Amino acid sequence: SNVADLAAEAARTRTDRLALIDTATGTTLTWGELELAVRATAHRLREAGVEPGDRVGVRLPTSAAFAVAFFAVLRADGVVVPLNPQEPASASTAVLADCGAEVVLGDESLGSATLVEPVLAAPERPGDAGSPAEPSRGGEDLAALLYTSGTTGSPRGVMLSHRALLAGVAQLRSLTPSPVEPSDRVFVAVPMHHVYGLGPGLLAPTAAGATLVTAPRFEARSALSDCLNHRVTVVLGVPAMYVAMAARPADELGESLSTVRLLVSGAAPLRPKVLADIRAATGLQIFEGYGLTEAAPVVTSTLVTGYAKPGSVGRPLPGVEVRLVDGDGTESGVPLDPEDPDDTFDDADGTGLVAVRGANLFSGYWPDGAHGPDADGWFRTGDVGYVDTDGDLHLVDRAGDLVIVNGFNVYPHEVEGVISELPQVREAAVVGVLDEHSGEAVKAVVVPEEGATLSEQQVIEHCAARLAGYKVPTVVSFTDALPLSATGKVRRVGLRGVDAVGQD
Ligand code: ATP
Repeated sequence: SNVADLAAEAARTRTDRLALIDTATGTTLTWGELELAVRATAHRLREAGVEPGDRVGVRLPTSAAFAVAFFAVLRADGVVVPLNPQEPASASTAVLADCGAEVVLGDESLGSATLVEPVLAAPERPGDAGSPAEPSRGGEDLAALLYTSGTTGSPRGVMLSHRALLAGVAQLRSLTPSPVEPSDRVFVAVPMHHVYGLGPGLLAPTAAGATLVTAPRFEARSALSDCLNHRVTVVLGVPAMYVAMAARPADELGESLSTVRLLVSGAAPLRPKVLADIRAATGLQIFEGYGLTEAAPVVTSTLVTGYAKPGSVGRPLPGVEVRLVDGDGTESGVPLDPEDPDDTFDDADGTGLVAVRGANLFSGYWPDGAHGPDADGWFRTGDVGYVDTDGDLHLVDRAGDLVIVNGFNVYPHEVEGVISELPQVREAAVVGVLDEHSGEAVKAVVVPEEGATLSEQQVIEHCAARLAGYKVPTVVSFTDALPLSATGKVRRVGLRGVDAVGQD
């Protein structure tokens, strides 16, 4: 079936229930109204010349307009290419050129692409609604093309089929307790152009016929008042959002989140300190998930075990398999044997490269499907992790973020964790910088808590007392905020140069 059938089904079974509250524009839509808006927008797309399989750009923030635009493209048998509305238009134009999209849904023109504005209100003249025509595409057909790699290199188009997106939603919804029930009000401020805002943010609540409460960007104070005013029950967040929330007064947090039953975090590592701070203020645990665009998106979650374990991303969702594999690139899907010291990615610390298998996986990269899952269905992520004695996965770092000092491996995540233990530290990021003696040296960039005083020497001494010598930072610099990607990942590239801090 087609991903847009999720919206049609919600309209059929939950017609007059609230689908969406757009906190920025005040627009509210029932599932029935959303469906009419989707049909009317799909009609406009066909009139603009969209043919089955055509790529269509969607350049909108997390909003009612995005939801309508996304389903409309699929209803018109197109392929959605979400674009980041925060990035310069030239970046979006380059993506449109790469995938040959000639039509874009949004609120401003991009290059030579034909602009179509999504219809938000139910059409006044019946003819404008377009036919409720069933889409003909589904299954292995391409549904969405998501460009990733804000943080690691030049963007590549991840090809997600209808099958992959629907499997991702079904896997999430098969969890008990369910991350989204029909009665839930789900706060979504994560960007919908990213797979996190798209899958868990838009598609899972649609499949449940729940209510979305959307915000185009995250700001702690207004997010908390939105949660209070709209009686939000589930919050989808990234660590940076919880860091900002934790900085608010505890009574404000407790009151604003009093109707919330579930806090979820993903996309980047959540510091145990943030987990503890939020728990102290609200009594709520934050359930952490691990995902990636290529897995549409969730691989593991602490929701599987039902308890938030600091530092762990939990276990694979039902229907998803995870293996740790050797790093030599020859074998894939080989389980890591903790008894065999040679059967590891890195013999010194028992870690392996995370490989994933499941119906949620992508079909390879645009345009030819290269580098997709192997013949046995396994996809090797770029992430290094280990499984603890309970069977819970811990991510160590991305293989590409590794810092090599005199031939020794330093995982930034470990050093960042140690620095974050200092009460004066709000956040820390660790990167490698070139060093003429050791090849690379460890550099820490630290964001102090407001009003705290902290010296380079204090950070170094704290680390020296807890870490092997080669892991101790040789350079420490201080900044007000770390440069973050749209989903709150630290853009490490921007931290390497001493003077480039915060500029990225
Ligand atoms: P890039 O291509 O640089 O990854 P992106 O952020 O657009 O850019 P995503 O597909 O969102 O691409 O990134 C997925 C990656 O995010 C994972 O491979 C992993 O490194 C990281 N990640 C996701 N969830 C977590 C988590 N809970 N803890 C730590 N890292 C995480």
